[in-house]
Amino acid sequence: MAHVVDMVPSSPVLLAPEGLEAIVDALIGSGRDVIAPVVLDGVISLGAITSADDLPIGWADDQGPGTYRIEHSADHTRFRFAAPAQSWKRFLHEERTLLVRTRLVDGEIEIENRGDDQRKLAFVGIRACDLAAIQRLDVVLAADAAYQQRRAGLAMIAVACTTAASTCFCASMGTGPDPGPGADLVLAELDDGMLLAAANTDLGCRLLRASGALEAASPERVAEANALTEACAASQVRALDPDVVTQAAAHPHGEEWTKFAERCLSCGNCTMVCPTCFCTSVEDRTSITDDAAERWQRWDSCFSLDFSYIHGGSIRQSPASRYRQWYLHKLSTWHDQFGSSGCVGCGRCITWCPTGIDLTKAVMS
Ligand code: SF4
Ligand code: SF4
Repeated sequence: MAHVVDMVPSSPVLLAPEGLEAIVDALIGSGRDVIAPVVLDGVISLGAITSADDLPIGWADDQGPGTYRIEHSADHTRFRFAAPAQSWKRFLHEERTLLVRTRLVDGEIEIENRGDDQRKLAFVGIRACDLAAIQRLDVVLAADAAYQQRRAGLAMIAVACTTAASTCFCASMGTGPDPGPGADLVLAELDDGMLLAAANTDLGCRLLRASGALEAASPERVAEANALTEACAASQVRALDPDVVTQAAAHPHGEEWTKFAERCLSCGNCTMVCPTCFCTSVEDRTSITDDAAERWQRWDSCFSLDFSYIHGGSIRQSPASRYRQWYLHKLSTWHDQFGSSGCVGCGRCITWCPTGIDLTKAVMS
């Protein structure tokens, strides 16, 4: 007899927490490193897990401009928090990558290039905004062999958001809180800790079979999940108004930029936590004994003075000019370059800006 999980996309099935454990086991059994939200250093971050019990069970977050706290929630849900402190990009587009190493051995130069990366990954618990961010990076890094290799073997288990932080604005960007079809499997967590699960790919169907959940969820349970996601969208207190961006883009040299960005410290936090910021620099190192050299690629930020350095000096000298570059690239010229916004509304740049600068506010006053 055919089950609902034999079709792609599948109908939602009801999954108990033990079924989630079976899915994590199946992903590990397929040779993947499973990355998921975990409580680490006082925040909900991302890290390797070996069991669904490693998820932040009973933890919630409280985010605002320049503030982040975690607290115990009254229930035992696994996914009642918004975007984790870090984004998933660092597992696909690493902070530091060795490109080439050369050594002088017996008068001959030995060259060691970056080798193939055979590591296969699974992201469990990725949110709609971060899924959209990976789809943005797929376009931007289409010619990056290391990214594409990691991406090809990636399995993704998305979770619909049922709670939004005060910094979230995915609903206004059309990127959430429902993850849509981009992941192998989409989960929705109900108030009693049960999950709805629907497969979008053959891998998703195989994972559902491994979980043992084979029967379609009742219409009442599906309606319950939909109501939670809709309430999450309706609760978002921030939104990005495209007219505000158009107005800002029309005045690239206005005085308002200085006023808007006067609190900017050029620390670059916003670019480090942003799931779509992708800029890198190349750094060469030589050994003190002069017989070895390495070339590294590392994340860089348009907020650093050196990032726009060309012969004779930096193009963007003032913090306001660097903020304007970041804002207008992310929200305006990204459309011309890559056919979408560079922002997915995760709100991390607002939370993790030490002075709480908020890109959803109007630049032109
Ligand atoms: S610009 Fe800010 S809100 Fe938009 S994707 Fe980047 S970190 Fe998230
Ligand atoms: S906007 Fe905020 S996080 Fe970004 S560089 Fe300026 S001070 Fe740092």
